[in-house]
Amino acid sequence: MKTADVDYRTFSGWIDPPSDVRPPLTRSLDCDVAVIGGGLGGMSTALRLAERGRDVVVLESEFCGHGSSSRNAGQLASAPGGDIQLLNLFFRKKMPAMSRLTEHAALHVEDLIKRLGIDCDYEQTGNTFAAVSRGQMGRVRRVAKILRRSGTEVRLGTSEELGIPRGFVGGMRETEGGIMNPGKFTRGVRRGLLSSSARVFERTKVTDVVRDGARVVISTPRGEVRANRAVLATNAFMGEWKIAPRHLAVPLWVIEVETEPIAPERLDALGWTSRSGLVTQHNIMENYRLTPRNTIVFGVRRIERGQTFPLPAGTKSPDPGLVQELADAFATRFPSLADVAVDRAWGGWIAITPSWLPVAGRIGDNVFYSIACNGHGLGQAPYVGSLIADLIVDGERPEDLEVVWTRKPKFPRPVMMSPLGLRTIWAIDRFNDMINGSRRNAAKNSRPAA
Ligand SMILES: Cc1cc2nc3c(=O)[nH]c(=O)nc-3n(C[C@H](O)[C@H](O)[C@H](O)COP(=O)(O)OP(=O)(O)OC[C@H]3O[C@@H](n4cnc5c(N)ncnc54)[C@H](O)[C@@H]3O)c2cc1C
Repeated sequence: MKTADVDYRTFSGWIDPPSDVRPPLTRSLDCDVAVIGGGLGGMSTALRLAERGRDVVVLESEFCGHGSSSRNAGQLASAPGGDIQLLNLFFRKKMPAMSRLTEHAALHVEDLIKRLGIDCDYEQTGNTFAAVSRGQMGRVRRVAKILRRSGTEVRLGTSEELGIPRGFVGGMRETEGGIMNPGKFTRGVRRGLLSSSARVFERTKVTDVVRDGARVVISTPRGEVRANRAVLATNAFMGEWKIAPRHLAVPLWVIEVETEPIAPERLDALGWTSRSGLVTQHNIMENYRLTPRNTIVFGVRRIERGQTFPLPAGTKSPDPGLVQELADAFATRFPSLADVAVDRAWGGWIAITPSWLPVAGRIGDNVFYSIACNGHGLGQAPYVGSLIADLIVDGERPEDLEVVWTRKPKFPRPVMMSPLGLRTIWAIDRFNDMINGSRRNAAKNSRPAA
């Protein structure tokens, strides 16, 4: 696969930055609720609070949608993220509630698309846990059993039965969710927010958050906000302030790349009739999805650990070596497209919690936080964000928030997420690929029937 002319981007491959960035905060002010961070999580909290009549201020360091919300793969999942077998081992009792939360999150996003009239190329295809080897297919079957027991509807089958590319052995398809252009979706939510009563300040980096009696004081370079309540919604960037719980999440940098447009007859020949997004069953997954531009967006496989705060935000672009590795993996999974070139590459910061589950909680009685990512934040971040808004207005935790609620903001040190731990997990995946013959399977299965 060719990687000679890749357009390495520091923002997203899906969309350009907005041309109507709102002015920064230049004076001090008071409000009822301050939301810090304008990703899908923060914007959804603020929008819901504004819709429910609250006086809300949003503070965003760049522009709303600058973070992973506009950069992700656009695969809206309806089953929990992370390693489901491990989650089941440690949190078996929570699994039905987690399954319900994830499904509700996907439905919430579909509703948001309709309600705000967002054109984001959404296709209700579901997403497929795709197996690259018989070993991975065994894992898929075990995961399907756990999910069904937890109440998630899934469909198991061979690649032909599921309408996924023949290079994969088979898989398990979620029945809800699908694929979209996340840049357009996030821009649509931003438009909804800007036309609400919320006061939105972009290019306003919050430098500190402290509790001061009944109020929260939020510092920015040119003004201070004093609020009755604050919501921390900066995702991977949360560790920049002392008030954030220690070890809440580890910041990881992940990459997506997009091919050049591919001739429709070559895409048809793959047998990808469902158009369902794919995630492989590696410990660090690979994802693959079609786009309306007749391209394939794919990524992850290898992740970089963020070492120190502040994280580089608008300046970091993918490492060409990692893009090459993704391109080589693509050529293995799609041998008939091995001559296609990579057109563009971008990346973003995600946050992984020690339990791999989304978390939400409160510091004191007036600072709320949530991390709803673990690879599934496209649905979970806006949904959990809206639940936090409901909690603030109603004073009671909605049922779906209960499952991710942390009573004390204390988290264990995430040992597997050290650079050495991540490298080891990656090496195990490559070893399994080698012994399970994933390259051989793809080449053999992709051959057209005689
Ligand atoms: C490459 C990639 C692929 C992914 N693929 C998928 C996928 O297919 N499906 C899926 O479900 N999820 C996926 N995710 C995860 C998903 O995108 C995120 O979980 C989700 O967007 C998180 O939303 P958020 O609002 O919490 O965070 P973000 O969108 O990151 O928003 C945080 C915001 O806070 C702002 N901010 C940071 N620091 C400050 C500060 N000090 N002051 C003010 N503002 C600040 C940032 O500028 C940013 O706008 C992917 C993520 C990446 C990066």
